[in-house]
Amino acid sequence: MKTKIIRDLCIGCTLCTSACPSVYEMDDEDKAIVIVDEVPAGMEDEVRQAADDCPTDAIEVTE
Ligand code: SF4
Repeated sequence: MKTKIIRDLCIGCTLCTSACPSVYEMDDEDKAIVIVDEVPAGMEDEVRQAADDCPTDAIEVTE
């Protein structure tokens, strides 16, 4: 599984970085970034949930 952030849509709410700190981090412009090439095993459900919960639909997930 891969995930990415549509940077222009991110409003910096930190929901995804709190839910999945091993996958997402906030950068110095308060935008979420992806810090892994592949979603780690066992984190898939959390990443799907973060994508569903993102208030601006800025998280993309590719199975
Ligand atoms: S949940 Fe969405 S809006 Fe919030 S920090 Fe993550 S990508 Fe940005």
